[in-house]
Amino acid sequence: MKIEFFRHSLDTAAIEAATEGLRKTFLTLSEANRQFESEFATYLNVRHAVTTNSCTAALQLSLQLLDINASDVVITTPLSFVATASSILLAGGNVTFVDVDAATGLIDLDLVEAAITARTRAIVPVHLYGQMADMRRLRAIADRAGIAVVEDAAHAVEAERDGVRPGQLGATAAFSFQATKSLTCGEGGALVTNSDAIAARARRLRNLGVDRTAAERYGGMYRPWDMVELGGKFSMTDFQAAMLLPQLKSVEVRRARRAAIWRRYTDAFAGTVATPSVCGADNHSASHLFTIWVRPEVRGAILGELAEAGIGVGVHYQPIHLTRFFRERFGYRDGAFPHAERIGASTISLPCYPALRDDDVDYVIETVLDAVAAHPAAGEAAVVGR
Ligand SMILES: *Cc1c(COP(=O)(O)O)cnc(C)c1O
Repeated sequence: MKIEFFRHSLDTAAIEAATEGLRKTFLTLSEANRQFESEFATYLNVRHAVTTNSCTAALQLSLQLLDINASDVVITTPLSFVATASSILLAGGNVTFVDVDAATGLIDLDLVEAAITARTRAIVPVHLYGQMADMRRLRAIADRAGIAVVEDAAHAVEAERDGVRPGQLGATAAFSFQATKSLTCGEGGALVTNSDAIAARARRLRNLGVDRTAAERYGGMYRPWDMVELGGKFSMTDFQAAMLLPQLKSVEVRRARRAAIWRRYTDAFAGTVATPSVCGADNHSASHLFTIWVRPEVRGAILGELAEAGIGVGVHYQPIHLTRFFRERFGYRDGAFPHAERIGASTISLPCYPALRDDDVDYVIETVLDAVAAHPAAGEAAVVGR
């Protein structure tokens, strides 16, 4: 592979922080976790952050905090990673998908509003590719219905829209520190919230429902502990939290580099290759994934040509409802969510990470333009709804 789809940016500072973390007495849920939680909450301008071992766990915890049960429904988008919908099922609820906006791929808020029933307990929007959903409008919709918003912010650590950051209007927002995300410790995550009660209970629920962590129990004199409710085991190790700390300090530098790559792509493809829209003036995308749309009939051929040229690409996403599990368990068929399906069949994600050089980006651009030119109307017809 000449140009990998993704390469992480872990530097000496992050690697040394992890090594130092391994020399500590307490390897989990201790000082580095507390420090990262505090700095992450400050960075996002929210009251609390609670680390977890994945974004999936943070989403599941967020829904468990609502005491969801088997008669409850949570509304979400089919155009996401399976984790978004799986976390709803793992928390014991039912999933209602609604289709996405044709131009952005974000969950369609008109359809969300229309889908709310007496059984609906929450909405899980996904801040897709780094662009936030319209949280002001979504919060108003949720408030009218008396239900919660849990944000899947796995792509959106650095995003802001209409003056709102992830976690500021939702009951919680969930983040991923998995290998391909902007901040990474291999596998990890966090939820953030402005609610003291949610944060306190999330800390307990991530640690088997026990009211003290091991570090709190054994630091100094032995202190008794109790299990007060049924919880999972979702905690993050301290050496992972330690390696996230230096990355958080440079997160804006890396976002700026991705935004520059994003602009280079956007300028080069303007008028030739369709891309999702970023809407509204006061909308700062985290520029997490750069995707193009090509005609579904030629997508396979173009994926082949990019691979041949040594360029790693991704597909974000094959819609969740068309996976074998969701088809077999819930009876979903092709055509259920046409915009999500159209985007899923058209989309190609291009390399977009800080370690890319400008000439790497130019090589990707040339290769894509050549591939698109080789297939009649490959770029144009991809624009959904046009
Ligand atoms: C990566 C990702 C997740 C899951 O994150 P994990 O930390 O791997 O559990 C959830 N939603 C979206 C949109 C993602 O990209």
